[in-house]
Amino acid sequence: MPVSPCASLSVGEIHHGFTITRRTGIPALRGTVYEMEHLASGARALHLHVDDNENLFSISFPTPPPDDTGLPHILEHSVLAGSSRFPVREPFFEMLKASVATFINAMTGPDCTYYPVAGTVRKDLFNLAEVYFDAVFHPLLTEDTFRREGHHLAPVDPQNPTAALTVSGIVYSEMKGVYSDPESRLFYTWLRHLLPETVYARNYAGDPEAIPGLTYGQFKQFHSDHYHPSNARIYLYGDIPTLDTLAFLGERLQDFTRRADAPPPTRQARWTAPRTCLDHYAVNPGEPATGKTYLMLNWLTGNSFDPEQAVLRQVLGRLLLGNEAAPLKKALIDSKLGQDLLQGGEMDLGQEAVFAVGLKGAEADSADAFETLVLDTLRQIAERGVEGERIEAAFRQVSYHYREILPMFPLHTLDRVVSPWIHGVDPLLFLDMGRHLEACRRRYLADPGLFSRMIREELLDNPHRLTTVLKPDPDGQARTDAAFGRRMEAERARRTDAELRQIAAQAARVQEQAGTPNSPEAVALLPQLNVRDLPPRPRSIPTVITQVTPDVSFLRNDLFTNGVNYLHLDFNLQGLPDELWATLPRYRDAIAKFGAAGLDYEQMARRVSAATGGLSCAPLFLRHAGDVGRPVWSLRFSCKALDDQIEDALGVLRDLVFAVDPHDRNRLQSVLTQARAGYRSDVMENGHNYAQWHAGRFLTAEGHLEEQCHGIPQLALTARACERFAAEADPLIARIDRLRDFILQPGRLTVSFTGSDQACATTQAALAGWVKAMTGPASLSEGHSGGLAASLAKAATGAGGAASCEGLAVPIQVAHCAQAMIAPRLGHPDCAALAIGVHLVRFEYLLSEIRLKGSAYGAGLSYNPLAGSLFLTSFRDPHITRTLDIFAGTPEFVRTAGWTQRDVDRAIIGVAKQDERPLRPGEATGEALTRHLTGMTPERRNRYHAERLEVTPDSARDALLKTLEGGLASGPVCVVADRRQLEEACRTPGARRLDIADVVM
Ligand SMILES: [Zn+2]
Repeated sequence: MPVSPCASLSVGEIHHGFTITRRTGIPALRGTVYEMEHLASGARALHLHVDDNENLFSISFPTPPPDDTGLPHILEHSVLAGSSRFPVREPFFEMLKASVATFINAMTGPDCTYYPVAGTVRKDLFNLAEVYFDAVFHPLLTEDTFRREGHHLAPVDPQNPTAALTVSGIVYSEMKGVYSDPESRLFYTWLRHLLPETVYARNYAGDPEAIPGLTYGQFKQFHSDHYHPSNARIYLYGDIPTLDTLAFLGERLQDFTRRADAPPPTRQARWTAPRTCLDHYAVNPGEPATGKTYLMLNWLTGNSFDPEQAVLRQVLGRLLLGNEAAPLKKALIDSKLGQDLLQGGEMDLGQEAVFAVGLKGAEADSADAFETLVLDTLRQIAERGVEGERIEAAFRQVSYHYREILPMFPLHTLDRVVSPWIHGVDPLLFLDMGRHLEACRRRYLADPGLFSRMIREELLDNPHRLTTVLKPDPDGQARTDAAFGRRMEAERARRTDAELRQIAAQAARVQEQAGTPNSPEAVALLPQLNVRDLPPRPRSIPTVITQVTPDVSFLRNDLFTNGVNYLHLDFNLQGLPDELWATLPRYRDAIAKFGAAGLDYEQMARRVSAATGGLSCAPLFLRHAGDVGRPVWSLRFSCKALDDQIEDALGVLRDLVFAVDPHDRNRLQSVLTQARAGYRSDVMENGHNYAQWHAGRFLTAEGHLEEQCHGIPQLALTARACERFAAEADPLIARIDRLRDFILQPGRLTVSFTGSDQACATTQAALAGWVKAMTGPASLSEGHSGGLAASLAKAATGAGGAASCEGLAVPIQVAHCAQAMIAPRLGHPDCAALAIGVHLVRFEYLLSEIRLKGSAYGAGLSYNPLAGSLFLTSFRDPHITRTLDIFAGTPEFVRTAGWTQRDVDRAIIGVAKQDERPLRPGEATGEALTRHLTGMTPERRNRYHAERLEVTPDSARDALLKTLEGGLASGPVCVVADRRQLEEACRTPGARRLDIADVVM
């Protein structure tokens, strides 16, 4: 955003039925805001006009939920399933298939539903706006759509329509998955009890137990009550002239008439005494309940729409919990009352501001001790006061939050504008936060006791406080299943056989309709791009490469960064001894959570927080695009800093890279405990990743390393390290030391930088000094031996996991299925055709069969030509055997699909999207480095783009069949689900047998 577009409209003017009600310059964003109101319909619009060609068009409605059925969420899914001008099955997916938009989605929040689209191609954006406008104001909302997206009864076995019933529905499956995750369950529980008199006490997304209570009539009524232009907030961002969008909107709004404003939401009355609440979540039967309770403290602190108070609360949150040395965080970790902290700090629910602090991996009888510790620690902090240096660091951390140009920047501004707007508060309140931040800093400098007073007023002396205990319940799942069984039996018993057959027929019809593809005439109704509308070449990052020393390349990326500097350091891991690969995650923990260069972890954490806007490291396993024999396996450090911090930031980074010190055993023990708790949460929340890593572990060397470093083996390794700490600690410390010393070799280092000239010069000078001090082993050769060599050899032939079919048992109520296979690498003649074919199969077959017909929340087919692998997946899926059969049926679908060149062209456009997203400076710094290291030169990217433009129906089909026919027969399968579902899948007649293993957590 280098310059501000000049303001052209004036207050009071009327254009296309809109009156301009306000014009405000926002210098911090280099733009102008226009607020407008449509005279006839009452629709309100706001344009943040900036010189950024990633434009955003969005319509949002306040949608306070009336109950726990997830009504706003089910409606959000359903309006995008066909509208009066576009009576097409799933126009949303049709548009997604063939658009280059950088963002297309819809989101339901606790009190509002958002329909945003963003993109850089103007014609595409207006096409999407057309479809979205019609979808929200004129949706078909058929009863079958309601059944499919929400809920419907269906026979468990379609062959046996008068036997047992079950509930099916996409949102129903989605929310069953969400409720399986104890942290999500905890969130809904405390929300309900902390704000009982507000809409936030009701579950906007849908409690699986309540979803089946929603009727079609309530659903239709909610749409007509809330989705009206008078209730809409239309937010626009970007460089498309305001009048162009007003012309578009004016024409479409002219037939609406104005309605009265909805009443403002009820505020929560303040309590006079704290409260407590207790809830349970399911764990595996027989699983020990120790160390599995969640403890949470929440306060209702005040009004979130006071921008200075909002800034101060963010600063306070960071002061108390923001880093490893933050006093409340440190006191909780040191107490060992739990294994790790839950996400905490300040958060907003509409006008209600909330502060949260919580522990996971605790005991239920520690609730009092937890509460006492938190309150005592807060009291001590308030009495002693906080050092100025820490407060300054917290202010700087918050300033990154407002200053950074993050990925999907237009979407970040949407949230800031719409939240106050729907509550009748000035929508510009949070757009220029730099100003409020400065005001708050001045307030603090004039009144150093400010934060101590806030701790007393908002937390210690605030009686609106809730303590929540969420306990594990080994019988919980069985009880839920039994209650559900009884409900279903009652549903069955009160119907005649004829009625049951009708239910079965209805369910079959929902499935059948979902599976019927749109006719070419129906698709032609949708406004679409043509291949010639695509930019001629993929978007590139302006990068100049120089040398710090003959060994070390330095990439300088030329992008506007708004005063933040981004530095990424990549260390090549070629030749790393076998036994050190699986230690990479613990090395990463050491960088994030240990001391260095003679300082303990607390001192180091304070330095990191004072000198940087964040610092992290992670391993990366890729392969060179031009040379299949060349692995690109590395350890990537990333760091950001403001101009006046860059020297200090480089000092901190140097101490960590050269002298990270894992020898504090006490600290090691708590960090390992945190890691273990982290894996436990992650496998519940993101089980689909574990299924994919596990299925792909023998396909390629990279797949093997991914599994070793991120997947199931890490759960067992950390569990073991925690349980046998006395024996495991020293060898682990020694391995971290070795990893640190291993990377210190100039030949391993490549650097990428985005930021100011002065910071760039400082960085280059510092790095030249580093290189002189690097004395690690010089060899970059591949020197694997023993176990890793054998695994890699197996992986190299794809033979290791051939045709394996595994089930990993974890206590979740839905399944994640994955099947992996080898696919051609970039440069192979089939690569472009396969990429296009994969896009077609994903939308036309897998989404339709697994999501729309099978009620899973997600289904995918992903192809990574750099990795040479292809994955079929399902996500939050009520089925296992059915889904694996659908995977197996893919070649048959491909053979009979009958694609036209128009279908293929739409896929070409859809795939081009990946190159059209503007990379914001932080991402671009890393991506430029990855492209450089993997040989993804502009020439190679241009060639790949050009090859995709040449794909035909025949070439796509041939490429798919070549990969899928062999791949499906031999490609390993992995399913993550609970033991009951896995065993049931094995009993299905004719199904593949799963080798089931319980996941050790
Ligand atoms: Zn959803």
